[in-house]
Amino acid sequence: MEHPEDNIDDLKTRRDYFQRNFPMVNIVLERTDINSYEVLKNTCANCGYLTLKYRAGFDICGFCFWEDDGDDDFEEDKDSGPNHMSLKEGRLIFYDAKMKLMDTKYHTHQLITTLKSYFSELDTLISIESSDKDEIIELHHNIQDLLDKNKIYGLESIFNNTH
Ligand SMILES: [Zn+2]
Repeated sequence: MEHPEDNIDDLKTRRDYFQRNFPMVNIVLERTDINSYEVLKNTCANCGYLTLKYRAGFDICGFCFWEDDGDDDFEEDKDSGPNHMSLKEGRLIFYDAKMKLMDTKYHTHQLITTLKSYFSELDTLISIESSDKDEIIELHHNIQDLLDKNKIYGLESIFNNTH
């Protein structure tokens, strides 16, 4: 769980990209306090990917398994009831799992190799402003299908099940 500052940078880059390039998603939970903040409304607040149909609707992100109670940057340190931890802690867990996924020493397992290639491709596309949006959506679906098929509920759980 090192480099939390990189974590925030990556997360913010990713969320900013989706915010600019994909249509806005509704906020379903009426929270008067949320309206006074600049909230990135169309991505998971925890992992930053485009996994939610709505924000603040208590949907569970398929990539990081964070339950979207509407918490975001402005209350990162607050305990998120349904997640039993703060958003800051949740973000570090996802960041750590993603780093492990990208780390060469975990290359041997087929599932990890495939997931790694999907995430690499996706992250590369996000870094290019003119990327094909259909391709980005398709990669999200590929990752989700693979996680579902292997009953991976939150990216970090992959490293508890496979050695
Ligand atoms: Zn997520």
